[in-house]
Amino acid sequence: MTRIGHGFDVHAFTEGRPLVLGGVTVPGERGLAGHSDADVLAHALMDAILGAMRAGDIGQLFPDTDPAFEGASSMALLSRVATLARERGFSLVDADCTVAAQAPKLAPYREQMRQAMARAMGVGVSRVGVKATTTERLGFVGREEGVAAWAVVLLDGPDD
Ligand code: MG
Repeated sequence: MTRIGHGFDVHAFTEGRPLVLGGVTVPGERGLAGHSDADVLAHALMDAILGAMRAGDIGQLFPDTDPAFEGASSMALLSRVATLARERGFSLVDADCTVAAQAPKLAPYREQMRQAMARAMGVGVSRVGVKATTTERLGFVGREEGVAAWAVVLLDGPDD
């Protein structure tokens, strides 16, 4: 049957780290704080997949207390989530994501993000959507304190 999953994540900006979003390193002065590479967009997508699988969340699967995941590539983690989904009989029908950042402008990187995340999941790029928005300077995103991301997925999976 078809399952729906939703994911949401936020990471704060910090100095001295690269900004990695959707598997793409976006040039700029600041990156995001986090235990892994802090790829907030990939994290939202992973949580959406795990949600559709009813398999908990990435905090459970990749605990930030585990040194194995320190600085981990979120594309590698996304591959592991996609593999886990396949092993349990699920296939990705479609995914769509929104990333909200006041700056830098992310639209030029959207296609690369789609490609990187599709590649990591082993699916065609047409199955992965990415949209970028600002929040019109409102809230923590608008104050450039961090980046937020949302994702929804449809998985085709085993019947109950
Ligand atoms: Mg996260």
